[in-house]
Amino acid sequence: MSYERDNIRRMSGYTPGEQPDNLQAVKLNTNENPYPPPEPVLASLQAITGEHLRRYPPPTSAALREAAAALHNVTAQNIVTTNGGDELLRLAITTFVEPGEPIGIAHPSYSLYPVLAAINGSPIVRVPLDEAWRPPSDFATQLNRAGVNLTFLVNPHAPSGTLLDVETISSIARALQGVLLVDEAYVDFVDPACGHDLIALIHEHDNLLVLRTFSKGYSLAGLRLGYGIGAAGLIDPIATKTRDSYNLDVIAQYVGLAALAHREYAAQTWEAVRGERARLAATLDKLGLACVPSESNFLLARVPDTLGGGASALYQALKARAIFVRHFDQPRLDDQLRITVGTPPENETLLDALHDLLDR
Ligand SMILES: *Cc1c(COP(=O)(O)O)cnc(C)c1O
Repeated sequence: MSYERDNIRRMSGYTPGEQPDNLQAVKLNTNENPYPPPEPVLASLQAITGEHLRRYPPPTSAALREAAAALHNVTAQNIVTTNGGDELLRLAITTFVEPGEPIGIAHPSYSLYPVLAAINGSPIVRVPLDEAWRPPSDFATQLNRAGVNLTFLVNPHAPSGTLLDVETISSIARALQGVLLVDEAYVDFVDPACGHDLIALIHEHDNLLVLRTFSKGYSLAGLRLGYGIGAAGLIDPIATKTRDSYNLDVIAQYVGLAALAHREYAAQTWEAVRGERARLAATLDKLGLACVPSESNFLLARVPDTLGGGASALYQALKARAIFVRHFDQPRLDDQLRITVGTPPENETLLDALHDLLDR
């Protein structure tokens, strides 16, 4: 006897990237920042006392919302803090999508979106990206026609790392009849020379919700902290109604505040990652593994069938050497490897292994 709802019984859960127990493994498969958080952020953890833990945490994360608002030059009413960016995705569905109503995504993208849709009993409307991993010009039209009230668009795109410009996002937001959630999980790694900043658009588009996370840029994936930015009318129902009471524990609030206060350290890691990204992409290219231009902390490299037995075989061969990258066994991606940019020594280990395996 199963007590699950029909849609829950029928669905499969999210498959996370492998988390090997071996701490010596070179882990380039889940897009973590390769550098640890800085000393003052770790010190904020030490400052948590039994008294902090005995009490409930600040219920609306007021201080953290104020700090995030100051960073983005908006007000705390434009910010909702969540238990990882993933919680914001789930809350957007709970808040804006009737059970069973469709949800729109660009395809391929983050594999959690269809899982969250299935929990809501919502069919997924997949609009295929073009050859350059960009949405087609009738992206919004297709989604409107399908009656979609919430669309997830990850930018920079995962798993390719390509960046859509602010103008394109703005025109999609304008054309969509429902909410556009732009998932900026990797935006911290965008080259500042691009001048990419979406936040001012929330004043133009009352349907634009921007996701940010501390997991990648701030080296805090283990903490589970993210936030949403949007017009007050979009944020308010999430912040005051649909989120869990006390959704952010006291540790996440303290450490998150310290991370924002020491953001210049994180920014140095972003710069280091960009430098290694360019070096890694150039070397992979020389090895015959061409990469899409990435503004993220990972590269999507195409593996010709003639090299190392193809992407799947190469993934296995690297894994046998305790080097973990990501291979997606699905159309359009099964001939590619997604490789997180690591520290210089980690990248060197990967490149040495590839030299060896590809006999070049
Ligand atoms: C990492 C990631 C998120 C958010 O992850 P959290 O750890 O829950 O903050 C959201 N979208 C994409 C595409 C991601 O890669």
